Amino acid sequence: MQNFFWHSVKTLALFLLPTLLVGLLWGPKIAVELYAVCVSIWLLLHLYQIGLLLRWLRKPKLSAMPSGIGIWQHIFATLQQQSKSRKKRKHKINTVLQRFYKATAAMPNGVMILDADGRINWMNQPAAGHFNLNREQDLHGILINLVRVPGFQEFVEAARENEEMKVRLPHVDGQRTLLVTAIPFEDDLKMIASQDVTRLEQLISTRSDFVANVSHELRTPLTVINGFLETLHDDPEVKPADRHSFIALMQKEGLRMQSLLSDLLVLSRLENDDSDEEKEEVHLSALCRQLLEGARALSGGQHDISDDITPNLWINGIQRDLYNGLSNILYNAVRYTPAGGKIHLALSLDETDGRSAIRFSVRDNGAGIAPEHLPRLTERFYRVDAGRSRQKGGTGLGLAITKHVLAEHDTKLEITSTLGAGSEFSARFAALDAPVMLAED
Ligand code: ADP
Repeated sequence: MQNFFWHSVKTLALFLLPTLLVGLLWGPKIAVELYAVCVSIWLLLHLYQIGLLLRWLRKPKLSAMPSGIGIWQHIFATLQQQSKSRKKRKHKINTVLQRFYKATAAMPNGVMILDADGRINWMNQPAAGHFNLNREQDLHGILINLVRVPGFQEFVEAARENEEMKVRLPHVDGQRTLLVTAIPFEDDLKMIASQDVTRLEQLISTRSDFVANVSHELRTPLTVINGFLETLHDDPEVKPADRHSFIALMQKEGLRMQSLLSDLLVLSRLENDDSDEEKEEVHLSALCRQLLEGARALSGGQHDISDDITPNLWINGIQRDLYNGLSNILYNAVRYTPAGGKIHLALSLDETDGRSAIRFSVRDNGAGIAPEHLPRLTERFYRVDAGRSRQKGGTGLGLAITKHVLAEHDTKLEITSTLGAGSEFSARFAALDAPVMLAED
C-alpha cells in the first residue's frame, strides 16, 4: 500500500519535469494545461485497470486474469497467487470432506447434522436406518416431526453434551433400542449421534433372566435341605426311620444341585469355547451303542428300547461333547415316555442331493409336545411341565446343551412331535470316510 502511494507520488512528480520545461519555454498556462492532460491520462489508465479488475471479479477465472500495467501488474499477480492457493485449499477441503463422508458411511453409528430450525442437513446411511428415515426423501425434514417419541423433542432441543437418551422405535423384527446423543456445535447446529444397542439390551436382559433362573433353581433344593436340617437340629429324638428318609431326600436335592451346576459349567464352556482345534475322528456308531447302554440302565427295563445303527459311521467332532448332547436327547425320551413305551434310536447314512450325511434320530411314542412349545424347547430352563421335569431330575438345560453341541458340529436339532403320539429328535452330520475299515464296530 505504501509502495503504491510512493509510486503514485513519484509518477506525479515525474509529470512535473516536462511541465517545468514547457513552462520555461511557452509560459505557465501551457504548462498547467500539459500537467492536467498528463494527470487525466494517468487517471484514465487507472480507471481502465479498475474496469478490468471489476470484469474479472464478476467471473474470477484464473486463466482469464488480466496482465495489467505498472502497479496493476503487481495487483493482478497477487490476486492470481491468492486464487491459486484458494483453489488448492478448496481441493484439499473437498478431499477431506469426501473422506469424512466415506468414513461416516462405513461407520456402524448414525450421524446426522441438524440446522438451526432442526432440519436434517445431512445424515449417513446408519442414521437413516436407525430412525426409519429415507436419506433422499427425508433430507431437510424436521427431525422431531419425523421421529415422534415421548421426550425426544425436548432432548433434541436442549442438546446438552454428555446427555444420552434411549429411544425405542418399531422395527421389522420387533423393537429397536437406540442410544442417542445430541451435540451442539458451531452457533446453532446440532449433531445427532445414534448407536443401535438392541442386542446389548437383549443380552443384559437374558443375563439377568439367567441369574434369576439359576437362583430360583438353587433355592428350591436349598430350602428343602435347610428345612430337614432344622428339623433334625430341633428334634434330636427323630425316629431312625424318619432320619433315614430325611437324609435320603437331602441327598437327592444335593444331587440335583450338583447336576445343575455341572450342566451350567458344560453350557458355559460350550458358549465360550472355540473348539475347532480339538476336533478329531469320532466313531459315531460306537458312541450310539454306548448311549443305548446308558438309556437301558436309566429305563431299568421299563421301556422297549430298540435300535438300527449302521456300523462304521464316523464324523469329525468332539467325543465328550457329542456324548453329552446326544445323551440328553435319548435320556429325555426315557424320562418323558411312560413305562411300557417304545423308544427307537437310528443312525444311518443318508444321500441327499449327492451329499452323504449321517442322520441320528431318537423316536418315542411318549406324551408328545404341543406345537407352541417346540420353538422354545432349546432355551435355557424352558420346560413344558416344570414339575414333571424336576421330578425326573431334569435341570432344564439339557436341550440347550444339545443345541450348542450340534452348532459346534455345524448342524442343528430338528424336532417333530404330535401331542399324545410321541416325538422325534434328529440331526444330520457331515460324514467322514472311515479311517480304517473295521470288521466290527
Ligand atoms: P429337562 O432337564 O427339563 O429335561 P431339557 O432341556 O432336556 O430339560 O428339555 C426341555 C423340555 O422339553 C423338558 O422339560 C420336556 O418338557 C421337553 N421334552 C424333551 N424331550 C422330550 C420328549 N422326548 N418327550 C416329551 N417332552 C420332551
